[in-house]
Amino acid sequence: MTLLGDRESRLLVDGKLVTGSGGTFATVNPATEETLGVAADATAEDMGAAIEAARRAFDDTGWSTDVELRVRCIRQLQQAMRDHVEELRDLTIAEVGAPRMLTAAAQLEGPVEDLSFCADTAQGYEWTSDLGVASPMGIKTHRTIAREAIGVVGAITPWNFPHQINLAKVGPALAAGNTLVLKPAPDTPWAAAVLGELITEHTDFPPGVVNIITSSDHAVGALLSKDPRVDMVSFTGSTNTGRAVMSDGAATLKKVFLELGGKSAFLVLDDADLAGACSMAAFTASMHAGQGCAITTRLVVPRARYDEAVEAAAATMGGLKPGDPNKPGTICGPVISARQRDRIQGYLDSAIAEGGRFACGGGSPADRDTGFFIEPTVIAGLGNSAKVAREEIFGPVLTVIAHDGDDDAVRIANDSPYGLSGTVFSADEDRAAGIGARLRVGTVNINGGVWYSADMPFGGYKQSGIGREMGLAGFEEYLEIKAIAKAAK
Ligand code: NAD
Repeated sequence: MTLLGDRESRLLVDGKLVTGSGGTFATVNPATEETLGVAADATAEDMGAAIEAARRAFDDTGWSTDVELRVRCIRQLQQAMRDHVEELRDLTIAEVGAPRMLTAAAQLEGPVEDLSFCADTAQGYEWTSDLGVASPMGIKTHRTIAREAIGVVGAITPWNFPHQINLAKVGPALAAGNTLVLKPAPDTPWAAAVLGELITEHTDFPPGVVNIITSSDHAVGALLSKDPRVDMVSFTGSTNTGRAVMSDGAATLKKVFLELGGKSAFLVLDDADLAGACSMAAFTASMHAGQGCAITTRLVVPRARYDEAVEAAAATMGGLKPGDPNKPGTICGPVISARQRDRIQGYLDSAIAEGGRFACGGGSPADRDTGFFIEPTVIAGLGNSAKVAREEIFGPVLTVIAHDGDDDAVRIANDSPYGLSGTVFSADEDRAAGIGARLRVGTVNINGGVWYSADMPFGGYKQSGIGREMGLAGFEEYLEIKAIAKAAK
């Protein structure tokens, strides 16, 4: 089997690969602007059929209580992805513009291997716990807690790390016993649609348990938030869209799980190796052209060494020229679309208008006339109130901000509507950890520690989200809790 052999992907509805009622739409290589092929364009009618199939599979089959079947199906999907990993890698580089080296990690192979955590968790999970006999209100009662699937989950995902985000929803939602409709971003339909091919060819997933709906129309995804047959929406994307999902979900009071934007800070304390820390911040901000929600995009450095910090960041970032994501050494590939490139350019222009300056970069590279590229850019001369320090840019852009000591660094880091991640560098590990403890964020990196792994929960404080993805906490997001009280003799 060759994935997408006819360069046209289909929807997965009720166990069958079908064409979309809305025809097709193109998926484009952001590095070359070439059309790779087309994806099925679903309409509201197709989405309705997918929701109905998921509802029926949940209500009328044994899926939600058959742990063994679920574990087997997830492991089959994982194996199918492993068996097709080179095709998936090529697809990911071409459709997402993901640098090849990242496909060995979070862009592909990492999330495929993380499916083991979902299967293992379901296999070993304590689905019921016995609280024993007690006499609340004087009535002798045997109490049990049961954990059950929520029902039909609508998963809505963005384009920046499609496999990571698709699988971080599909894996735990299905392992927990839910059925699901996955609606990927219109920019990366194939990364999701290939799952449909692999599921139908290589797994025992019963019809209706997994449905995949690609569409060029955001409103088709919004139906998942509104439909009363959907019990939960699991959304990753921008904070503004998250607000729309939450408000659409309010009418039916469904559970809404949100992973949203970020504007995370990288704090360099006055005893740290300044050049080393700034260089690491610059490298991180350039990876995948800065299209990661948890990337630290505010570099907060001691005021007395501000110029030195800007120079160190610019030396690294200026050397990371945006390039062909297919090449093994590329760190910074293209951004996903012309729209994103223009949006980033708007932010860069705002930095100059507010009195900032570019220590390197500042726009599209002069030597590339095709592809959606932005040069890794260091912005200097602005404070934390600048637009580029407050809003998520989602490009390879690092803003360097001065602090006046540890308390001020914490204040700046927390002075943001977001709270996704934070990094602290210091020669004194305890001092760094103490500062990390004061950050109002969901993940903290101390001196280069890595928080991303299958068993670590990921998510944000404040306007960066509600709930946690991955880890045991991520699995349990997809469960209801039932308290059972049986009269005892
Ligand atoms: P987006 O919010 O525009 O779109 C995300 C998804 O939502 C897409 O599938 C889109 O079709 C769909 N959508 C759009 N409008 C909708 C609506 N009204 N109702 C339901 N669905 C709707 O985001 P994007 O541009 O695809 O992705 C970039 C954003 O995602 C960034 O802001 C980034 O920070 C965020 N992000 C967050 C995380 C995280 O885990 N916190 C991870 C990756 C990306």
